[in-house]
Amino acid sequence: MNKAKVEKWTAAAKILGVDPSQIVRCPERDDGVLVVHDVVFERDPTMMERWLICDTCHAGNAMRMPTPPKR
Ligand SMILES: [Zn+2]
Repeated sequence: MNKAKVEKWTAAAKILGVDPSQIVRCPERDDGVLVVHDVVFERDPTMMERWLICDTCHAGNAMRMPTPPKR
């Protein structure tokens, strides 16, 4: 992955890490928007992976973060 793409993914992760309802364009090809899937770790439910996946080309990246409190 080139540096510009890494920076776009990092920017997307910063936005969607705070508010998963934000609309963020695909950092990979700018062809769709990112869909958020949260996967809570079975062994440690206080942590999870937040997957950011393009709804068009299915490029994806995950970030590990604390599980947000239930609303
Ligand atoms: Zn895409």
